[in-house]
Amino acid sequence: MTKIAIYPGTFDPVTRGHIDICERALKMFDQVVIGVADSLSKEPFFDIDERTDMLKAVFGDSPRILIKPFSGLLIDFARDCNAEVIIRGLRAISDFEYEVQLTGMNRSLAPEIETVFLTAAQRYAFVSSSLVREIARLDGDVSEFLHPEVLRRLTKKLKQTG
Ligand code: ADP
Repeated sequence: MTKIAIYPGTFDPVTRGHIDICERALKMFDQVVIGVADSLSKEPFFDIDERTDMLKAVFGDSPRILIKPFSGLLIDFARDCNAEVIIRGLRAISDFEYEVQLTGMNRSLAPEIETVFLTAAQRYAFVSSSLVREIARLDGDVSEFLHPEVLRRLTKKLKQTG
């Protein structure tokens, strides 16, 4: 039986922290579906097509990774994907409260789906898309935290948007 997990997020843009979590998830599951949330309330910097394209550029044609945009309820997306598990990443304690709330709500809506928390390698433990964008906007070097293609697209978009 194929064990499927979804890894949902905004990925605005995908960082090496996200990539690290995804690689760890692949050790436990046959297939990982990366769900790119529209996250309209967060007013993402990159639109959903740009975020999806960057993930595809990073993960290429890896047969065990699927990349799918979604809107609506996370548990509906998980069920559509036949996923048994939702993967979330944990960084600092500040992530914990929100993530536990989200897990509790998802569990009451879909008791058959488990949430599994993973942590990234120490060097990515503090990396977030928003900080990376902010540092890049101020001309800081974020090459350590991004795949080269993502860095290229971020640099280009920052130039365009001023
Ligand atoms: P969301 O809007 O759903 O929080 P993000 O793209 O910010 O979307 O994050 C998706 C998931 O990846 C979240 O569970 C987040 O905690 C996790 N994550 C992001 N960066 C890291 C990192 N550096 N280490 C561990 N987990 C991370």
